[in-house]
Amino acid sequence: MTVTPAPKRVFDPMMPRTGQYRPIADTEDQTFSDWLQRQLDEILSLSETPPRCPHCQSDGAVLFARAAHPKPILPVFRCLSCDVHFRRTTGTPLSGLKFVNLSQFVRLLSQQRPVTEAAAILGVKPLTVTRWIKRMRQWILHLDPTGHWEARVRLGMEIRPDLACPRCGVTDRMHYRGFAAETGDRRYHCDACRHTCRLSDVLRDQAPGFVLEHRVVARPPSPRRKT
Ligand SMILES: [Zn+2]
Ligand SMILES: [Zn+2]
Repeated sequence: MTVTPAPKRVFDPMMPRTGQYRPIADTEDQTFSDWLQRQLDEILSLSETPPRCPHCQSDGAVLFARAAHPKPILPVFRCLSCDVHFRRTTGTPLSGLKFVNLSQFVRLLSQQRPVTEAAAILGVKPLTVTRWIKRMRQWILHLDPTGHWEARVRLGMEIRPDLACPRCGVTDRMHYRGFAAETGDRRYHCDACRHTCRLSDVLRDQAPGFVLEHRVVARPPSPRRKT
């Protein structure tokens, strides 16, 4: 039996961690956005054709209430077998979420960009964006358990180079910090020995065929963070 390796999340080390000193380039993964938007159009559809009941899986559901202003936002169905009311989002991680600027959020989701920036673009709180990302990732994994599409989500993920410090050898304390003024080289800093070096110098010392991997750090970057 062959084991399929988990899909890799790919990051660009040259992207600034915050938009504080230089603007963050648009890194939208258009294929991902198109795919996700199609899935969302389906689940958030106003179609009154009853879907399968999420509770008993029977096909015997009928329209209970059509979408109207201000409520319900989505059509409500009633299952004739188990007498439960539901929407297409019922039982999914998207249940109960109220999205603002959803198509813009979809375009941001694949981008290597901090939550604070996305929140400013969307006009919502950073905490809201964090919740949307979390639920969206759960839903994407539910739609595609191989993880192929979920691995394309990069919004709000701070990365660290998966390299050992060339001076002290510690492996998990390196993080990106700024760019060299003269050359634009990516610089990184070791928290363990306080050594700062250039990414290009470290990459030069690696064996041929070396591929730089990144680890995702749980805490998203914040411009207010102390360094
Ligand atoms: Zn049912
Ligand atoms: Zn070090």
